Amino acid sequence: MSVLKANLKKLESKFKTLSKKSKPFGRLVIISAPSGGGKTTIVSRLLAKKTHFKRSISYTTRQPRKGERHGRDYNFVTKADFLRRRRQGFFLEWANVFGQYYGTARTTCLKLMRAGFDVILAIDVQGMRKIKRLSGKSMPMVSVFLMPPSMAVLKKRLLGRQSDSAAEIKKRLQTARAELTCRRFYDYVVINNTIQQCVKDVSKILGVSPE
Ligand code: 5GP
Repeated sequence: MSVLKANLKKLESKFKTLSKKSKPFGRLVIISAPSGGGKTTIVSRLLAKKTHFKRSISYTTRQPRKGERHGRDYNFVTKADFLRRRRQGFFLEWANVFGQYYGTARTTCLKLMRAGFDVILAIDVQGMRKIKRLSGKSMPMVSVFLMPPSMAVLKKRLLGRQSDSAAEIKKRLQTARAELTCRRFYDYVVINNTIQQCVKDVSKILGVSPE
C-alpha cells in the first residue's frame, strides 16, 4: 500500500472512531482553480467570516513571492526537507506543480477537523483527485472548482500579479487549459466573475452566510 493510501486509511479510521463520539467532526473543503483564478482571495474572504473555517498551510519547495510569508502563505521548505517529509508519510497528499513540490500536512488537517473546523485546502486538481480517489466516500469533504470567466481574463489576472516571468505565465496558462477540463471531477463548479458573487456562491455551497 502506498504511503498516501496508508495515510488516508489512518485518517479515515480515526474519523470513524471520532465520529462515533458526540463532538462534530469538520470537513475537508477543497478549493481549486487555475493559477491566477482567484483562489487565494476567495479563501481569504471565507476565512474572514470568522466561521468554523481554518486553512491548511501547504508545504512547498517554490520560492516565496513578494509579500508572501513563511508559515502564513506557505511553509517554504527545501526540496530535501520536502522529500524527507514525504518519505515519512507527513503528507495527506502532495503533487508536483509547475516543477515544484506542494503538499498538505496530514496531522494538522486531522487535528483541525477533530476540533470541529472545516479545513480549507487550496490545492490543485492532482491533489483533489488523489484525496478523492483514495478516500472514497468515507471522508467528509466537499470540492469546489473556481472557473475564470474566460482565458483572456485569466491571462490578465496573471499578468496583473507581476510576480511571474513571461515563460512562467505561459506555462501556467497551458496548465490552466488542462485543469479546466478536470472541473467535472468536482462536486461544484463556480464561475469567478466578481469576488463578491463568487464568495456568495461558495458560501451558499458550504452552508454559511455570505456576510
Ligand atoms: P502557487 O505557486 O501559484 O501558489 O500555486 C500553484 C498551484 O499549486 C496552485 O494550483 C495551488 O492550488 C497548488 N497548491 C498549493 N498548495 C498545494 C498543495 O498542498 N497540494 C497540491 N496538490 N497543490 C497545491
